[in-house]
Amino acid sequence: EKRARALKAGNSMLVEVENLSKTFGDFRAVDDVSFGIERGEIIGLLGANGAGKTTTIHMVLGLITPTSGRISIFGKSMATHRGEILEKVNFTSPYSTFPFRLTVLENLKVFARIYNLKKPRERIDEQLERFGITKLRDKAISGLSSGENTRVGLCKAFMNDPELLLLDEPTAYLDPEIAWQVKNALLDAQREKGTTILYTSHNMDEVERMCKRIIFLHHGKIIAAGSPIEITQAILEEEREEPALEEVFMRVVKGKAA
Ligand code: ATP
Repeated sequence: EKRARALKAGNSMLVEVENLSKTFGDFRAVDDVSFGIERGEIIGLLGANGAGKTTTIHMVLGLITPTSGRISIFGKSMATHRGEILEKVNFTSPYSTFPFRLTVLENLKVFARIYNLKKPRERIDEQLERFGITKLRDKAISGLSSGENTRVGLCKAFMNDPELLLLDEPTAYLDPEIAWQVKNALLDAQREKGTTILYTSHNMDEVERMCKRIIFLHHGKIIAAGSPIEITQAILEEEREEPALEEVFMRVVKGKAA
């Protein structure tokens, strides 16, 4: 019966990561990490600079090869079904990788072709509208502010209507109003389409509000996982009524919880 329950639980997992590690030379950036992401959840990946968040996301995306461990998405192994899996996945990165001489529209058209979209222009305009950058359509990437660039990245990420979004600091560089718009766009996607989202942010209030579940990385290891209140109680080792992730974060980086 235990096995049946485990199998059933396993089936509802959209992403399963088992014993994942990555070493660069003799430095262990990600150290024996295991977690699952359920379909339709927004899950936060937290940790200090250098904790291993981006490295983990890049392995889940197949951008770098794990030193060891297994990743399966939609019930299929990333090692053997990468192409098929990635058709239904997308991501953002805090560093723009768009050809900077091309305009926003030209850049997004390239992605529309890569994703083989049926009505590319319609799809692109929809995303530009969603992230409030319609007026930047014909501007070169080189002339954009950091926040504008972040939003072009989000347009790209939503264009293929992904089932799974891996967002590395999607609200970095955004002013409070735009950050609010972006968070609503993520919540809408989750509510209306059941999009599953893994995301990182250094804004603890935002994570508290957005994520039902959080994975906390420290020096490449998961030191806590659960709801914001569960993580707060586990790390601070006391009863709390409200989550206090900022306090948790400070406690962890000062080494008291490591
Ligand atoms: P941040 O909040 O700063 O984005 P992060 O949690 O995303 O941090 P990672 O980018 O995953 O951290 O980096 C984890 C560690 O691995 C860092 O110490 C980094 O210097 C190291 N690292 C990452 N990529 C490489 C690489 N290609 N070669 C060597 N070391 C690397």
